[in-house]
Amino acid sequence: MRIDIITVLPELLESPLNHSIVKRAQDKGLAEIHVHNLRDYSTDKHRRVDDYPFGFAAGMVLQIEPIDRILQHLKSQRTYDEVIYTSPDGEPFCQKVANQLSLQENLIILCGHYKGIDHRIREHLITREISIGDYVLTGGELPAAIMTDAIVRLIPGAIGDETSALSDSFQDNLLAPPVYTRPVEYNGWRVPDILLSGHQAKVEEWQHQQSLERTRLLRPDLLEEE
Ligand code: SAM
Repeated sequence: MRIDIITVLPELLESPLNHSIVKRAQDKGLAEIHVHNLRDYSTDKHRRVDDYPFGFAAGMVLQIEPIDRILQHLKSQRTYDEVIYTSPDGEPFCQKVANQLSLQENLIILCGHYKGIDHRIREHLITREISIGDYVLTGGELPAAIMTDAIVRLIPGAIGDETSALSDSFQDNLLAPPVYTRPVEYNGWRVPDILLSGHQAKVEEWQHQQSLERTRLLRPDLLEEE
C-alpha cells in the first residue's frame, strides 16, 4: 500500500516513520510512505502557503491553491481510495477505521496547520475527515503519524508474528489480556501458573476470560458495540 502525507513540517514525521515496524514494512516493500512538503507547491517567492482568514478571525489559514496543485499532481499519477484530512472535528479514529484503511491501496493524508485549511478544500477535495481525539494539536503531523503507524502494522507481514496484531486490544471489541515474561517470580510476584502449564487450549481460554474481564472493568462501552 502507498500513503502520501502532505505537510508544512515534514521534519515532524521523520522519526515516527523511520523506525520500528513502520520502517520495516517499508524496507520489506509492504508499504510506501511519501512525505511531501506543501511549500514545494507554492508559487510565492517566499514559499508561503498560508494567508489571513476572512472575517476578522485570528491566526492563519492554509490556502487552497498549493493544496489543489499537489492533489492534482498526485491524482494524475494514480487513483487514491481516500483523501483524508486530519481534523479535530472529524470522525474518531479507532481500530475499525485503521482496519478499513489498511485494506486500501493508495491513501493521501493532508495535515492541517495554524487555524486549519480553507474550508473549500474540505467541501470539494477531501473524501474523509479523521480526528485522533477530542483535543487540539498544533498540526496534523502527529495524527498522520499515529494513523500511519496503526494502519501499516496491520498489513500482513509487517509484524513478525502475523497473528499478533489480531490479538491486540480493540480487535473483536475486546481489550488485550495481560502479558508476562521472565523471570517467573520477581519480589514474590508470580506469573499466573496457567501460563506456565504448556496447555494451549486452557491458556487461550484463560486469556479470553481475562480479555472479557478487563473489558467489562475498563471499557464496558466496547461490549455494547456490535
Ligand atoms: N481551528 C481548528 C479547530 O478548532 O478545529 C484547530 C486547528 S489545529 C491548531 C491545526 C491542525 O492540526 C488542524 O487543521 C488539524 O489538521 C490538526 N489537528 C489538531 N488537532 C487534531 C486532532 N485532534 N485530530 C486530528 N487532527 C488534528
